[in-house]
Amino acid sequence: MGSNARPHAVLIPYPAQGHVTPMLQLAKVLHSRGFFVTYVNTEYNHRRLLRSRGADALDGLDDFRFETIPDGLPPSGNDDDDVTQDIPTLCESLLRNGAAPFRDLLTRLNRMPGRPPVTCVVLDNFMSFAQRVANEMGILAVVFCTMSACGFMGYLHYKELMDRGYVPLKDESYLTNGYLDTVLDWVPGMPGIRLRDIPSFIRTTDPDEFMVHFDSNEAQNAHRAQGVIFNTFDALEQDVVDAMRRIFPRVYTIGPLLTFAGTMARPDAAAISGSLWKEDLSCLRWLDARTGGSVVYVNFGSITVMTPAQLAEFAWGLARCGRPFLWVIRPDLVTGDKAMLPEEFYAETKERGLFLSWCPQEQVLSHPSTGLFLTHSGWNSTLESIRAGVPMICWPFFAEQVTNCRYACNNWGIGLEIDNNVTREEVARLIKEAMDGEKGKDMKAKATMWKEKAVAATEGGGTSSVNIERLVEFMLEGNV
Ligand code: UDP
Repeated sequence: MGSNARPHAVLIPYPAQGHVTPMLQLAKVLHSRGFFVTYVNTEYNHRRLLRSRGADALDGLDDFRFETIPDGLPPSGNDDDDVTQDIPTLCESLLRNGAAPFRDLLTRLNRMPGRPPVTCVVLDNFMSFAQRVANEMGILAVVFCTMSACGFMGYLHYKELMDRGYVPLKDESYLTNGYLDTVLDWVPGMPGIRLRDIPSFIRTTDPDEFMVHFDSNEAQNAHRAQGVIFNTFDALEQDVVDAMRRIFPRVYTIGPLLTFAGTMARPDAAAISGSLWKEDLSCLRWLDARTGGSVVYVNFGSITVMTPAQLAEFAWGLARCGRPFLWVIRPDLVTGDKAMLPEEFYAETKERGLFLSWCPQEQVLSHPSTGLFLTHSGWNSTLESIRAGVPMICWPFFAEQVTNCRYACNNWGIGLEIDNNVTREEVARLIKEAMDGEKGKDMKAKATMWKEKAVAATEGGGTSSVNIERLVEFMLEGNV
């Protein structure tokens, strides 16, 4: 096949870790199926990737290229901080400033010697400007929802929640007076879902709350896309996926993508990594020295921030539970200041606690010593835990993490929820229950069952495998 005949996919993730990673996994899958790949980072993230991985890990292939666009934000004070940017500000900036540089980029790519013309764009569900540009230029565009289907169904119904008068809340008392327990029996494919399980930005009294309108509009944008991809598998979210298929004509459930990136990536692309922080691999040796299923792994993802008081409750809960634990504490995990814990805590837990600022999570979860995951219920973390058969304790922070938590605890039977107002007693009690109690046995059995279903979905003939073939076929047709 001559280079001009080759399909060329441009992939543009939302610039946060939980979006960059699955988009890169999808890029590897498309690359393995013959696509020329251009992966678009923001300049800020690209600098971070270069720092955490080195240039070789990013730009070593002729047919898997990285390009950048600015995110439109003023340069941060200290680029070496590697901190998560302010999410609403970043959303607003990209919405306002993303289209022009993206249009310029596509135009440039189409003229670049040695690159086939762009035949399709895969955009994150929060990057609707890329859809507009692709439409203007007559290029096929497919939305990739890097979140759960249940989470996305919530955003899709933000508009109806506003129209029906649920949002905004009448006043602050509605946050605590039981109103959030209202069951919404009209959200398709989500029987029994409560207002509190809908992505958390609706918990506002402000009719103009930016994130409500932004998320609502971005979700509705999927109606303009030629297809919608989810990093989930049918058996896991069957009802909501069925409902999604009644809303959108082309739905591709192709998760867990992490599995396919591992099995399908071309060997020369396998090492390309999208980790924005430098991974500390020392934890794997530490885990090797622990007994099977004994370790509590604690990680709140890339965005969660908590108060120093909440951090202290988690710490003393871990101290009380008596189990070995591996705790990833990002330097910007705590509001206001660098995350600090009292010396007595380190002294008390030094024999059985390991502290890191970023780890290779997928390897930690798959390690036989890991028995439980204390998580913020981000979708990637949830799916990685399911894939590894590890039960969870869930402390959702924001967005659709509340929906993921509800499904993990209620629908899949693999999670226990910690109240947002976390106490050390509850942390210790839930860890004990999950690791030693009857409930824990049941959770482990269910986690093993879901792991097997995830494997089945990604094997030959499995739903996700079949859907990858359908997606590739569709994206190839799009360029004739
Ligand atoms: N992650 C990691 N090492 C860490 C913390 C997180 O590799 O120490 C990865 C994790 O495996 C997941 C992603 O970062 O793929 C976090 O995404 P998720 O959707 O769980 O949460 P978010 O960070 O978006 O809140």
